[in-house]
Amino acid sequence: MDIHTVLPPSLLRERLLALSELYARADRAVDIFQAASGLGCPFGCGSCCESFIPDILPAEAELVALDLVARDRDQAFRLAASGLEPRQSASGTPGCPLYRDDTPYHCSVYASRPLICRLFAFSAVRDKHGTAAYSLCRLMPAGPGTPRSAANGDLAAAFGAEPPVMGDYGAELAALDPGSAGGRLPLHEALPPAIMRVLFMAGLGTNPENDGPNLSPPLPQAS
Ligand code: SF4
Repeated sequence: MDIHTVLPPSLLRERLLALSELYARADRAVDIFQAASGLGCPFGCGSCCESFIPDILPAEAELVALDLVARDRDQAFRLAASGLEPRQSASGTPGCPLYRDDTPYHCSVYASRPLICRLFAFSAVRDKHGTAAYSLCRLMPAGPGTPRSAANGDLAAAFGAEPPVMGDYGAELAALDPGSAGGRLPLHEALPPAIMRVLFMAGLGTNPENDGPNLSPPLPQAS
């Protein structure tokens, strides 16, 4: 997904470039922690998406929207118009509408997935005293001698490295667009208006591949 080819120069483009950089750092922090700890999700497990809909900020929704617009503009128009329904899980708990049963990786927007989806299983949380604590997901296997939870000064000794802290990355995320920091919505509510914003901005571009609305037609020529 090349943000530059879809969006013209704009605040939206700058925000999404900054968000991509933040995601890349979060991914690297998770990679480092996974390599040091040896921890990993069971292959094909999607349980954290099957019965869960992430609450996301507008910028996160816009990056998912950009991914959808870049891949299939017609589908993006349809989703913007008709909305998304939560996934119906066997337990009856609503799940993420972007989850797919028919692939082993499940997430249909993996490259643009929101922050919590990147950090969920491999990040620590802080309590009100600032103490960082990490617990393994109940489905995550662990080798002999690996504890299932640890906190603060024991984290590096327990897991070989300190996990990234969700709240620290969350604060950076909120700082990208402070005006919308209070605008978290469930993904299926946040995504349609985000797609409309991205389609609108994509339509302002000059790339002939963009077939969105042309809002700057040639001016009439004086005769
Ligand atoms: S966006 Fe992807 S990773 Fe996040 S909850 Fe939905 S399916 Fe799961």
